[in-house]
Amino acid sequence: MSVYLVVSIVLCYVVWIKCIYYRHRRTLVKSLKHLMNGSTSKETNGADIRALIVTAHPDDECMFFAPTIIRLVELNASVHLLCLSEGNYYNQGAQRKQELLNSCAVLGIPDSRIIIVDHKRLPDDPKTDWSVSLVSSMIVKHMRTQSFNMVLTFDGSGVSGHANHIAIHKAVSHLASSGQVPNDCCLLSLETVGLLRKYISFLELPFSWLLPSCLCCIIGSQGYRQAKDAMFCHRTQLLWFRYLYITLSRYMFVNTFQVIPKGPKNLKIY
Ligand SMILES: [Zn+2]
Repeated sequence: MSVYLVVSIVLCYVVWIKCIYYRHRRTLVKSLKHLMNGSTSKETNGADIRALIVTAHPDDECMFFAPTIIRLVELNASVHLLCLSEGNYYNQGAQRKQELLNSCAVLGIPDSRIIIVDHKRLPDDPKTDWSVSLVSSMIVKHMRTQSFNMVLTFDGSGVSGHANHIAIHKAVSHLASSGQVPNDCCLLSLETVGLLRKYISFLELPFSWLLPSCLCCIIGSQGYRQAKDAMFCHRTQLLWFRYLYITLSRYMFVNTFQVIPKGPKNLKIY
């Protein structure tokens, strides 16, 4: 009797996840439109979204942001990547740069929309605190040249707690609070979730769906295969625990974001 009960509960849970997946496909455009203050009468097909993903290292784009990139590309959004280091911690920068380009090609970002920064003050190193002013100046310079209306990056915990991820969040928050971000540009931070939620794979979807967030991007089995193929492009990083990550991490299936609030325009900080 108890076996039947457990099987029924598991089946119901899986059906619930399927329902969330199909419902999400309908609501994603609505959420994006709401975020960008789109007029309710205007049909949004995603083509008017110019999104910039800001990451710290080659592989961040597929380890953490794959569901978002895949969904935005599907909607014909113009998705760009700014990666602030070559990932040279083990002196593999040149190889990792190429791996990043290959991974982005799988995710749907062409080479022409990728900037990889190689700056001596921004090393790939969890023990080095990146300068917030340097990072923010690089981001704002890039934002202005392309007129992005959406910038997505890490939150204050950096998903993995890496100091370089956190430095990017601080830089984007600084831009937001000091009024250096155009009115039509929304800033989003990728939510860090606790260990239990992080490593229960797609079973985490109901939590992401039910808990409040400003944007929720979910991919199904086809998108997951694409994210996995992108991960496999990072051959230098494919250690045994990466295979576990690919199988168990909810970031391979879902991303949830919160808005980074903007301060008053042209605020001077002394
Ligand atoms: Zn990273």
